[in-house]
Formats: sequence, structure tokens, C-alpha cells
Amino acid sequence: MRQPVGGNSDSMKRLNRSTVLHAIHRYKPISKAELVPITKLTFATVSNIVQELMESEWIVEAGYGQSSGGRKPILYQLADERYHVISVDIAVASTTAALINVSGEVVYAESEHHVRKEDGTFQVDLGTIYELVDSVFEKTLPNKQEVIGIGIASPGPLHAEKGVLLSPPNLTGLDGVEIRDLLKTRYGVEARLEKDADAAALGEYWFANRKPNMLYVFADRGTGGGILFNGSIYRGFLNGAGELGHATVDIHGPICRCGNIGCLELYASGIALERNRPSMLMDAIMQEARNGNEVLQKELETVTSYLATGITNAVNMLNPAEVILGGALINGYPPMAESVKNIISERCFTRENGVPDISVSVFQDHAPLIGAAAVILQHVFEHPEQFIRQPK
Ligand SMILES: [Zn+2]
Repeated sequence: MRQPVGGNSDSMKRLNRSTVLHAIHRYKPISKAELVPITKLTFATVSNIVQELMESEWIVEAGYGQSSGGRKPILYQLADERYHVISVDIAVASTTAALINVSGEVVYAESEHHVRKEDGTFQVDLGTIYELVDSVFEKTLPNKQEVIGIGIASPGPLHAEKGVLLSPPNLTGLDGVEIRDLLKTRYGVEARLEKDADAAALGEYWFANRKPNMLYVFADRGTGGGILFNGSIYRGFLNGAGELGHATVDIHGPICRCGNIGCLELYASGIALERNRPSMLMDAIMQEARNGNEVLQKELETVTSYLATGITNAVNMLNPAEVILGGALINGYPPMAESVKNIISERCFTRENGVPDISVSVFQDHAPLIGAAAVILQHVFEHPEQFIRQPK
């Protein structure tokens, strides 16, 4: 049903702008007439909002569409050159800060490795993160690019609503740090914190046109997951949703660092690979396997089999439309993704009717980094009144 012309209330205005912004982002380049059936708004309302978005430089003209008799319609898309996000990806072994445009393209990035301690864990401090973000600001601001916010992706556990890092396993130095508010105050822009796999899931949806009901699997040093429900991150009641790595796969297994028994992460992760080879890091193990080391290939097959079993359990629970495979294991050992796909397709509960689309993350190692930009953009699109200047 069409909404009434020119709703007066602020909430109606906000919703209409948000709807038009989302549609231009998703279906770019697009004409005003094409926006009407997608947004279910009147042509007059669409026209007003497009005018306002043009004046505030959120969108630009992008050529002409097909004529349906009269003049060719003007097409619109987001203005890639105007607004940017700074993304910070705090991974276990390194932190990356980047300037990313509103189409999810990395304009500039800088990384710093964390200090590796004797027990195999890593250490990072807030100063390193400040230095990286300072540097991205310094090196990119001369271009007059306007930064609309800072998106932060980090391994869990964390409290996304409060913007606080808890105690990520294998990474010390930021326990209890209120990173969102610290960055917000230091740089004077909006900031948001999300779990790495959640950010990566949102990034795939925003910038790779993935489906809005999705499971993102982060097969890395640890094993994580992010769930999208109707295009939004599903964090669960206590920020614990998507913790795929801590589903028990062996009730007689060893105790996991999370306190549970026989967790998937103990069998399907970089940590699992390294446990059998204390002298080698996961990247070296995968490289030797790619080079033909059959013993290591067998070990990777075992990891693959556990991973696929865990994902099949999650697919049976959530029944997502799409499963995206990401993380260093998937990127570092290509046969893994194909095997995982085959195993899920053979075993998942709905296989007679169909299986979810299963594919590899298009952003690979940059998925959480690019996803952190989507976290900010989604916030901006949901609250356009805070970011879009009113026309005079
Ligand atoms: Zn566990």
C-alpha cells in the first residue's frame, strides 16, 4: 500500500529518507521512476528526497536510463568521492585501519603486527590503534574527504551496544577497554563496535549484494560466525549469537577455553592445526599442504570435516538463505570451501527441497575491515537526520 503524500512527522520523514537511501544503494544506478515501486513512495516524495540527497552531496547523477517515450530519465547513485568511513579491524595477530568509501572500496589502509608472546598469544595496546587511525586521518584528510564515522571490528567476546571489548582469547591488552567511546571522543565522529564475523556478514550484504538472511562463517585462528536476520546483525540476548565455534562436537572431548567441552573450535580452526605442529604457524601449515605435503593435507581434511559438520548443525538450526565462508583457513586452503559446500549439501535437513547458497567471501582477508564500514553506513542510513543536512 502506498504511503500518504509527504508524511509530516519526523519519524515518517526519517523512514522515507532511509528507504530511498537504501534503495539507491542497493539498486544503483536508478531513476526516480524506478525508485517509486521499490520504495512504495509517491513520485513527489521520491523527488523531494532525491533533491535533498543531491543538495547534501550524498548522491550524484550517474548517466541516463532507457526512455519510455519521453526524455531519458536521470540515474542516481551514492557519491563515492564525498563521504568516507574509517574502519579499524582488530584481528588477533594485527590491527588494520583504513579509509573506505560508501561503496565499500578501500581507498587507503595501514597495518601493524601485534607483539607475539611466548605462550603463542598476542598483545596490542590502545596506542597502536590511535597511531594507525591518526595516520589514516593525516594521510587522507588533505583530499577533503569527509569521515562520517569509525567502524571497529574485533574478535568476541565484546559488548556491541556498550562499545566495550571484553577478553578476546589469544589477544591481550584491550580487556574492558571502552574502545567505541574513546575513538568517538578522540576524533569527534560517530563510532560503532561489532564482532568481526558480524561486521563481515554485514559487509557482504551491503557491498556484495548478498541475501539478508545469512550465516557468515569465520574459519580463522578461532572459529566464529555472524548471523544476519532481515539485513540486520542478530546478536542474541547477551551478544552471544553466532558462536558456532563453541558448539560441542565431542561430548567426551577436552575442555575448551570457553569452559564448555569438546567445542568445534578445538577441531576446526587454525589453533587446531597448530596444536599438532607446535613449531609451525597456520599459514605455513596451509602453504605446505598447498605445495603437496600429504600428511598436512590429511590434517586439513579432518579440520574441513569438523567445520562442515558444525556449519551443517548451524544451517539446520537457522535455515539461512545463504552461507558465506570466510577467514584465513578458507582463504589459505582453497579445497576446504568446496568440500564444506559438498558436505553441507549432502547432509543438511532441507536437501530434498534445496540447500542455502554457499560461497566464499568476496572480500577475503579484508571482510571484517570492509564490514566495519557497513556497520557505520547502516547506522547512518537508519538515522539520516543526524548526517544529512536539511536543505535551506
Ligand atoms: Zn568453547
